[in-house]
Amino acid sequence: MQTALADFIRDTPQGSEADAVLRTCVHCGFCNATCPTYQLLGDELDGPRGRIYLIKQMLEGAEVTRRTLTHLDRCLTCRNCETTCPSGVQYHKLLDIGRGIAEQRVKRSAPDRFTRWMLRAVIPHPARFAPLLRLGQLFRPLMPPALKRSVPARQAAAPWPTAAHARRMLVLQGCAQPAIAPNINAAAARVLDRLGIRLIAASGAGCCGAASHHTSGVEQGLEFARRNIDAWWPHIESGAEAIVMTASGCGVHVKDYAYLLKDDPAYAAKAGRVTELTRDISEILGGEDLSRLRTGAGPLPRVAFHSPCSLQHGQRLNGAVEKILRQTGFTLTAVPDAHLCCGSAGTYSILQKDLSRRLLENKVAALESGRPEVIATANIGCLAHVQSGTTVPVRHWIEVLDAGFSTDRN
Ligand code: SF4
Ligand code: SF4
Repeated sequence: MQTALADFIRDTPQGSEADAVLRTCVHCGFCNATCPTYQLLGDELDGPRGRIYLIKQMLEGAEVTRRTLTHLDRCLTCRNCETTCPSGVQYHKLLDIGRGIAEQRVKRSAPDRFTRWMLRAVIPHPARFAPLLRLGQLFRPLMPPALKRSVPARQAAAPWPTAAHARRMLVLQGCAQPAIAPNINAAAARVLDRLGIRLIAASGAGCCGAASHHTSGVEQGLEFARRNIDAWWPHIESGAEAIVMTASGCGVHVKDYAYLLKDDPAYAAKAGRVTELTRDISEILGGEDLSRLRTGAGPLPRVAFHSPCSLQHGQRLNGAVEKILRQTGFTLTAVPDAHLCCGSAGTYSILQKDLSRRLLENKVAALESGRPEVIATANIGCLAHVQSGTTVPVRHWIEVLDAGFSTDRN
């Protein structure tokens, strides 16, 4: 695609980056076929090719309107288009640049600004998010069904193993996950303990920064990234093998730290090391000898796996979890259109309620079609969102795996 960038961006690092991405796009439109918002709305400007054009026009100096911002806001950042694109267009990098410019040029409505401020002020801060969630859970029994479904039921965590192993890995605790589903990281710690690996949650680390990054708070997101790097660094220097992610939405963001902090002289090198060490829990298990684990004596539940976009498109780990579950004896039910987003997409379910609900209904129908006993997924946002639309229990797959194990083979 030919470009003629406007003066305000032409000779800047962002301009060069955007130009490079735009030049790889051949305008073929293959990406529209798998774009969830294009499928729902049928508008070229709500598909990746149209959004790329909108951003190109902005960068070439065209006026940025509220309508431009709306089409960019409706993007789920699911990156399904990147998986489909035959030219390797790095759409999400262009979208980040385009959104940044649109944010500066168009004033959002007061309610929209307030909602985004609230999300940034609450979600990344466990000391604020957890009490609010507890309050909601307290009144949950009194809520009408529609509201009740959007408040996750309280979950207790089974014990975290304390055995000292020579092999050590860090784990990101994150922000909302410990309050909603504290058993996920504990289950990961138990599974890794069986493989002779100690999982450590470094004190001082917290939100990965993705929630801020996607709600008009890029600088706040970078501050969270720096804080995590500072908290992890002593452990990295003393030999932690990996930084394990149990939420794929956080994983895709932390794997981007090297890119996000490339222009920060104080953090660029450390961010590069963090990116190198970051692994989804499925990548860790995929490299271990799983015959050292065994499932319990009882029958295992039939599982429908919902692969989050951040896992299959963002991290290109399609099929990794399914392989582990099959290797360890689980039966997976068929899930049609497994490449499509569930509508959670970080804060999308709050900011784009209607589109999110329609995607959720389609996803739940697909997941339930094989009559699973449990739905498994790999991201806390998807877990809570899908659970709000079904009575089938929804768990992180590492919890499903952990519950299936009783003793070591040895
Ligand atoms: S992003 Fe890729 S698939 Fe979409 S129009 Fe451009 S080249 Fe084609
Ligand atoms: S990231 Fe997802 S919603 Fe956005 S344009 Fe690509 S496929 Fe469509």
